[in-house]
Amino acid sequence: MIVSKDPNEVREQILSWKSQKLSVGFAPTMGFLHEGHANLFVRSSSENSKTVVSIFVNPAQFNDPEDYAKYPVNTEGDLEICKKSKVDLVFLPEKDTMYPGGIPEVELKIPHLMKNLDAITRPGHFEGVLLVLSRLFHSIPADRSYFGKKDYQQYLIVKDFVKALGFPMEIIGVDTVRSPEGLALSSRNARLTDSEKEEALLLSRALRLGESQIRGGEKDPQEVLNVMKDVLDSSSKITTDYLEILNADTLEELHILKGEVLLAVAAFLGQVRLIDNITVRVS
Ligand code: AMP
Repeated sequence: MIVSKDPNEVREQILSWKSQKLSVGFAPTMGFLHEGHANLFVRSSSENSKTVVSIFVNPAQFNDPEDYAKYPVNTEGDLEICKKSKVDLVFLPEKDTMYPGGIPEVELKIPHLMKNLDAITRPGHFEGVLLVLSRLFHSIPADRSYFGKKDYQQYLIVKDFVKALGFPMEIIGVDTVRSPEGLALSSRNARLTDSEKEEALLLSRALRLGESQIRGGEKDPQEVLNVMKDVLDSSSKITTDYLEILNADTLEELHILKGEVLLAVAAFLGQVRLIDNITVRVS
Protein backbone atom coordinates (compact mmCIF):
# COMPACT_ATOMS: atom_id res chain seq x y z
CA MET A 1 0.00 0.00 0.00
CA ILE A 2 1.38 3.39 -1.02
CA VAL A 3 1.08 6.15 1.59
CA SER A 4 1.77 9.68 0.39
CA LYS A 5 1.40 13.25 1.61
CA ASP A 6 2.30 14.67 -1.79
CA PRO A 7 -0.59 15.58 -4.14
CA ASN A 8 1.67 15.58 -7.23
CA GLU A 9 3.03 12.12 -6.47
CA VAL A 10 -0.52 10.85 -5.92
CA ARG A 11 -1.73 12.34 -9.20
CA GLU A 12 1.22 10.86 -11.10
CA GLN A 13 0.49 7.40 -9.66
CA ILE A 14 -3.17 7.57 -10.57
CA LEU A 15 -2.45 8.80 -14.09
CA SER A 16 0.05 5.95 -14.48
CA TRP A 17 -2.62 3.41 -13.43
CA LYS A 18 -5.11 4.98 -15.82
CA SER A 19 -2.59 4.87 -18.67
CA GLN A 20 -2.40 1.10 -18.03
CA LYS A 21 -6.22 0.98 -18.39
CA LEU A 22 -6.64 0.23 -14.67
CA SER A 23 -9.85 1.70 -13.23
CA VAL A 24 -9.57 3.78 -10.05
CA GLY A 25 -12.08 4.10 -7.18
CA PHE A 26 -11.77 6.80 -4.52
CA ALA A 27 -13.21 7.22 -1.02
CA PRO A 28 -12.57 10.58 0.68
CA THR A 29 -12.61 10.45 4.50
CA MET A 30 -11.69 12.42 7.58
CA GLY A 31 -10.09 9.41 9.24
CA PHE A 32 -10.73 7.68 12.58
CA LEU A 33 -11.90 4.93 10.30
CA HIS A 34 -14.50 2.31 11.19
CA GLU A 35 -16.45 -0.42 9.40
CA GLY A 36 -18.66 2.15 7.69
CA HIS A 37 -15.60 3.56 5.92
CA ALA A 38 -14.16 0.08 5.30
CA ASN A 39 -17.41 -0.83 3.58
CA LEU A 40 -16.78 1.96 1.04
CA PHE A 41 -13.23 0.73 0.44
CA VAL A 42 -14.31 -2.89 -0.05
CA ARG A 43 -17.08 -1.82 -2.42
CA SER A 44 -14.56 0.25 -4.39
CA SER A 45 -12.10 -2.67 -4.54
CA SER A 46 -14.83 -4.93 -5.88
CA GLU A 47 -15.64 -2.47 -8.69
CA ASN A 48 -12.20 -1.04 -9.58
CA SER A 49 -8.65 -2.25 -10.23
CA LYS A 50 -7.23 0.26 -7.73
CA THR A 51 -8.68 1.92 -4.63
CA VAL A 52 -7.52 5.25 -3.26
CA VAL A 53 -8.47 6.67 0.16
CA SER A 54 -7.81 10.19 1.42
CA ILE A 55 -7.62 11.00 5.11
CA PHE A 56 -7.89 14.71 5.84
CA VAL A 57 -9.79 16.51 8.59
CA ASN A 58 -10.99 19.41 6.46
CA PRO A 59 -11.07 22.65 8.46
CA ALA A 60 -13.18 24.35 5.77
CA GLN A 61 -16.24 22.21 6.51
CA PHE A 62 -16.43 22.77 10.29
CA ASN A 63 -18.75 25.57 11.33
CA ASP A 64 -17.92 24.86 14.99
CA PRO A 65 -14.20 25.34 15.88
CA GLU A 66 -14.57 23.10 18.96
CA ASP A 67 -15.94 20.26 16.82
CA TYR A 68 -12.85 20.62 14.57
CA ALA A 69 -10.44 20.77 17.52
CA LYS A 70 -11.98 17.65 19.09
CA TYR A 71 -12.27 15.60 15.91
CA PRO A 72 -10.64 12.23 16.75
CA VAL A 73 -7.40 11.21 14.99
CA ASN A 74 -5.79 7.73 14.76
CA THR A 75 -3.56 7.61 11.70
CA GLU A 76 -1.81 4.35 12.63
CA GLY A 77 -5.11 2.52 13.21
CA ASP A 78 -6.51 4.05 10.00
CA LEU A 79 -3.61 2.72 7.94
CA GLU A 80 -4.20 -0.77 9.40
CA ILE A 81 -7.87 -0.66 8.37
CA CYS A 82 -6.89 0.54 4.88
CA LYS A 83 -4.40 -2.30 4.55
CA LYS A 84 -6.95 -4.89 5.68
CA SER A 85 -9.50 -3.48 3.23
CA LYS A 86 -7.06 -3.86 0.31
CA VAL A 87 -6.63 -0.14 -0.30
CA ASP A 88 -3.84 0.55 -2.82
CA LEU A 89 -3.01 4.17 -2.01
CA VAL A 90 -3.67 6.42 0.99
CA PHE A 91 -3.39 10.18 0.50
CA LEU A 92 -2.60 11.95 3.78
CA PRO A 93 -2.26 15.64 2.93
CA GLU A 94 -1.24 18.32 5.44
CA LYS A 95 -3.46 21.37 5.97
CA ASP A 96 -0.87 23.64 4.31
CA THR A 97 -0.68 21.39 1.26
CA MET A 98 -4.45 21.42 0.80
CA TYR A 99 -4.81 25.12 1.52
CA PRO A 100 -1.53 26.92 0.83
CA GLY A 101 -2.16 30.52 1.81
CA GLY A 102 -5.22 29.53 3.88
CA ILE A 103 -8.79 28.64 3.03
CA PRO A 104 -9.76 30.63 -0.09
CA GLU A 105 -12.85 32.81 -0.26
CA VAL A 106 -15.06 31.05 -2.72
CA GLU A 107 -18.65 29.93 -2.37
CA LEU A 108 -19.61 26.64 -3.96
CA LYS A 109 -23.32 25.88 -3.84
CA ILE A 110 -25.95 23.54 -5.22
CA PRO A 111 -28.81 25.81 -4.14
CA HIS A 112 -31.78 23.50 -4.73
CA LEU A 113 -30.28 20.82 -2.42
CA MET A 114 -29.03 23.29 0.19
CA LYS A 115 -32.33 24.68 1.50
CA ASN A 116 -32.73 22.51 4.60
CA LEU A 117 -31.21 19.85 6.92
CA ASP A 118 -27.45 20.33 7.49
CA ALA A 119 -27.23 23.15 4.94
CA ILE A 120 -29.20 25.33 7.39
CA THR A 121 -28.08 24.00 10.77
CA ARG A 122 -24.37 23.90 9.76
CA PRO A 123 -23.91 27.07 7.69
CA GLY A 124 -20.94 26.82 5.32
CA HIS A 125 -20.52 23.07 5.89
CA PHE A 126 -21.33 21.84 2.38
CA GLU A 127 -19.46 24.76 0.80
CA GLY A 128 -16.39 23.48 2.69
CA VAL A 129 -17.06 19.90 1.60
CA LEU A 130 -17.32 20.92 -2.06
CA LEU A 131 -14.12 22.97 -1.79
CA VAL A 132 -12.05 20.09 -0.39
CA LEU A 133 -13.55 17.62 -2.86
CA SER A 134 -12.70 19.88 -5.81
CA ARG A 135 -9.10 19.96 -4.60
CA LEU A 136 -9.00 16.23 -3.91
CA PHE A 137 -10.49 15.43 -7.32
CA HIS A 138 -7.62 17.37 -9.00
CA SER A 139 -5.09 15.10 -7.29
CA ILE A 140 -7.25 11.98 -7.57
CA PRO A 141 -8.93 11.86 -10.98
CA ALA A 142 -10.77 8.61 -10.17
CA ASP A 143 -13.34 6.88 -12.35
CA ARG A 144 -15.70 6.39 -9.41
CA SER A 145 -15.97 8.00 -5.98
CA TYR A 146 -17.76 6.38 -3.06
CA PHE A 147 -19.90 8.24 -0.52
CA GLY A 148 -21.89 6.93 2.43
CA LYS A 149 -25.63 7.48 2.47
CA LYS A 150 -25.30 8.14 6.19
CA ASP A 151 -24.48 11.65 4.96
CA TYR A 152 -27.42 11.49 2.58
CA GLN A 153 -27.65 15.20 1.74
CA GLN A 154 -23.89 15.29 1.09
CA TYR A 155 -24.23 12.33 -1.29
CA LEU A 156 -26.98 14.08 -3.30
CA ILE A 157 -25.10 17.41 -3.38
CA VAL A 158 -21.82 15.80 -4.49
CA LYS A 159 -23.61 13.83 -7.22
CA ASP A 160 -25.15 17.04 -8.58
CA PHE A 161 -21.92 19.04 -8.17
CA VAL A 162 -19.82 16.54 -10.13
CA LYS A 163 -22.43 16.54 -12.90
CA ALA A 164 -22.72 20.36 -12.94
CA LEU A 165 -18.95 20.88 -13.12
CA GLY A 166 -18.37 18.06 -15.59
CA PHE A 167 -15.95 15.97 -13.52
CA PRO A 168 -15.61 12.74 -15.53
CA MET A 169 -16.41 10.66 -12.46
CA GLU A 170 -19.30 8.53 -11.25
CA ILE A 171 -20.60 9.11 -7.70
CA ILE A 172 -21.72 5.95 -5.94
CA GLY A 173 -23.84 5.95 -2.76
CA VAL A 174 -23.22 3.18 -0.22
CA ASP A 175 -25.70 2.08 2.47
CA THR A 176 -25.17 3.02 6.11
CA VAL A 177 -23.33 0.51 8.30
CA ARG A 178 -24.75 0.19 11.83
CA SER A 179 -23.81 -1.44 15.11
CA PRO A 180 -25.79 -4.63 15.87
CA GLU A 181 -28.05 -2.46 18.06
CA GLY A 182 -28.76 -0.06 15.18
CA LEU A 183 -26.48 2.91 15.92
CA ALA A 184 -25.10 4.35 12.67
CA LEU A 185 -21.31 4.04 12.86
CA SER A 186 -19.59 7.42 13.05
CA SER A 187 -16.16 8.68 14.05
CA ARG A 188 -17.97 11.00 16.46
CA ASN A 189 -19.39 8.01 18.42
CA ALA A 190 -15.92 7.73 20.01
CA ARG A 191 -16.71 10.94 21.91
CA LEU A 192 -19.87 9.46 23.52
CA THR A 193 -19.93 7.99 27.01
CA ASP A 194 -21.43 4.49 27.39
CA SER A 195 -24.70 5.90 28.64
CA GLU A 196 -24.81 8.45 25.79
CA LYS A 197 -24.25 5.60 23.33
CA GLU A 198 -27.28 3.88 24.82
CA GLU A 199 -29.39 7.05 24.41
CA ALA A 200 -28.06 7.54 20.88
CA LEU A 201 -29.90 4.36 19.88
CA LEU A 202 -33.09 6.41 20.08
CA LEU A 203 -32.16 8.09 16.78
CA SER A 204 -32.34 4.86 14.78
CA ARG A 205 -35.34 3.71 16.85
CA ALA A 206 -37.21 6.88 15.93
CA LEU A 207 -36.39 6.31 12.26
CA ARG A 208 -37.54 2.68 12.40
CA LEU A 209 -40.76 3.65 14.14
CA GLY A 210 -41.37 6.30 11.47
CA GLU A 211 -40.76 3.68 8.81
CA SER A 212 -43.23 1.27 10.37
CA GLN A 213 -45.89 4.03 10.57
CA ILE A 214 -45.40 4.70 6.86
CA ARG A 215 -45.46 1.00 5.99
CA GLY A 216 -48.66 0.75 8.08
CA GLY A 217 -50.31 3.20 5.67
CA GLU A 218 -49.83 6.60 7.31
CA LYS A 219 -49.69 9.24 4.55
CA ASP A 220 -49.44 12.42 6.65
CA PRO A 221 -45.79 13.36 7.30
CA GLN A 222 -46.75 15.42 10.34
CA GLU A 223 -48.33 12.40 12.03
CA VAL A 224 -45.18 10.35 11.41
CA LEU A 225 -42.97 13.20 12.66
CA ASN A 226 -45.02 13.45 15.87
CA VAL A 227 -44.45 9.77 16.65
CA MET A 228 -40.72 10.07 15.94
CA LYS A 229 -40.44 13.25 17.99
CA ASP A 230 -41.95 11.47 21.01
CA VAL A 231 -39.17 8.87 20.83
CA LEU A 232 -36.44 11.53 20.79
CA ASP A 233 -38.13 13.62 23.48
CA SER A 234 -38.27 10.58 25.79
CA SER A 235 -34.59 11.22 26.59
CA SER A 236 -33.59 14.35 28.48
CA LYS A 237 -30.03 13.88 27.14
CA ILE A 238 -31.05 14.36 23.51
CA THR A 239 -31.46 17.80 21.96
CA THR A 240 -32.97 17.49 18.51
CA ASP A 241 -31.33 19.69 15.87
CA TYR A 242 -33.70 18.71 13.06
CA LEU A 243 -36.21 16.00 12.30
CA GLU A 244 -37.59 16.03 8.77
CA ILE A 245 -39.40 13.95 6.18
CA LEU A 246 -38.59 14.97 2.59
CA ASN A 247 -38.65 13.74 -0.98
CA ALA A 248 -35.52 11.56 -1.12
CA ASP A 249 -34.53 12.69 -4.63
CA THR A 250 -35.16 16.44 -4.45
CA LEU A 251 -35.18 17.12 -0.69
CA GLU A 252 -38.44 19.02 -1.25
CA GLU A 253 -41.03 19.10 1.54
CA LEU A 254 -43.93 16.68 1.29
CA HIS A 255 -47.55 17.24 2.23
CA ILE A 256 -48.55 13.68 1.43
CA LEU A 257 -46.10 10.77 1.65
CA LYS A 258 -45.42 9.28 -1.74
CA GLY A 259 -42.53 7.94 -3.81
CA GLU A 260 -39.07 7.59 -2.25
CA VAL A 261 -39.14 9.35 1.12
CA LEU A 262 -36.22 10.44 3.34
CA LEU A 263 -36.55 10.39 7.13
CA ALA A 264 -33.64 12.40 8.54
CA VAL A 265 -32.57 13.33 12.05
CA ALA A 266 -29.76 15.32 13.65
CA ALA A 267 -29.38 15.53 17.42
CA PHE A 268 -26.93 16.54 20.11
CA LEU A 269 -25.90 14.22 22.91
CA GLY A 270 -23.97 16.55 25.15
CA GLN A 271 -21.50 18.30 22.83
CA VAL A 272 -21.60 15.59 20.19
CA ARG A 273 -23.82 16.02 17.15
CA LEU A 274 -25.04 12.86 15.43
CA ILE A 275 -26.99 12.41 12.21
CA ASP A 276 -28.91 9.47 10.82
CA ASN A 277 -31.48 8.77 8.12
CA ILE A 278 -33.35 6.08 6.26
CA THR A 279 -35.27 6.08 3.00
CA VAL A 280 -38.62 4.37 2.54
CA ARG A 281 -40.44 3.68 -0.72
CA VAL A 282 -44.11 4.54 -0.37
CA SER A 283 -46.31 2.65 -2.82
P1 AMP B 1 -16.20 10.99 7.19
O1 AMP B 1 -14.87 10.43 7.52
O2 AMP B 1 -17.15 11.05 8.33
O3 AMP B 1 -16.10 12.29 6.41
O4 AMP B 1 -16.86 9.97 6.18
C1 AMP B 1 -16.21 9.58 5.00
C2 AMP B 1 -17.18 8.80 4.16
O5 AMP B 1 -17.59 7.64 4.87
C3 AMP B 1 -18.46 9.60 3.83
O6 AMP B 1 -18.83 9.32 2.49
C4 AMP B 1 -19.44 9.05 4.81
O7 AMP B 1 -20.78 9.16 4.39
C5 AMP B 1 -19.01 7.59 4.88
N1 AMP B 1 -19.50 6.98 6.12
C6 AMP B 1 -19.29 7.40 7.40
N2 AMP B 1 -19.94 6.61 8.28
C7 AMP B 1 -20.58 5.67 7.55
C8 AMP B 1 -21.44 4.58 7.87
N3 AMP B 1 -21.77 4.29 9.12
N4 AMP B 1 -21.91 3.82 6.85
C9 AMP B 1 -21.59 4.11 5.56
N5 AMP B 1 -20.79 5.13 5.20
C10 AMP B 1 -20.30 5.90 6.17
